[in-house]
Amino acid sequence: MSTCEDEKRYQIQMIAEEIKRCRKCSLSETRTNTVPGEGDVDSPIVLVGEAPGYWEDRRGIPFVGAAGRLLDEVLEEVGLRRSEVFITNVLKCRPPGNRDPRSEEIKACTPFLDRQLEIIKPSFIVTLGRHSTSYIFSKMNLNFKGISRIHGEIYRARFADWSCYVMPTYHPAAALYNVNLREDILRDLRKLKIKIGLLMKD
Ligand code: URA
Repeated sequence: MSTCEDEKRYQIQMIAEEIKRCRKCSLSETRTNTVPGEGDVDSPIVLVGEAPGYWEDRRGIPFVGAAGRLLDEVLEEVGLRRSEVFITNVLKCRPPGNRDPRSEEIKACTPFLDRQLEIIKPSFIVTLGRHSTSYIFSKMNLNFKGISRIHGEIYRARFADWSCYVMPTYHPAAALYNVNLREDILRDLRKLKIKIGLLMKD
């Protein structure tokens, strides 16, 4: 492991500790565990979901419930292992009853996501669902026209002080009972894999 990777791991761990102590919004009163994110801090790919659900809140790990199993399956089908990417969420605590994130919660929590991304500096951000896409697009000055219109498109833009690609796709939870959406996610991820392969050849 390189010193740079050690340093990144340390910084990501420090953010996770801060998240554990965070009381910036009322979700801290109802959470069981914070869910800062996990995975390879040196990966070129970061996946950004919406917010922890029931199982994530119980275990403190992102995407470990039914949607997480679907995500693992589609990642595997395109030849990516979960351990090879970094997975996190817009919100680090579960909204009660899995309701949509509120704007004040997004405002309070996203400085953590911004800092995680600035440390990892991924070449590719995959946004899962509309909340994540809408937030990342706003940071990158991209126009969000609705997930069904733009999923699978690969955009290049600046995030803070570096440029990267961002590809929106559907949220895995939306695909749990809709095989067509599952196929869409698969197709989107395959497209991303091809793009990564082409870029690595250059
Ligand atoms: N849905 C999300 O958006 N994130 C998780 O971690 C789990 C379910």
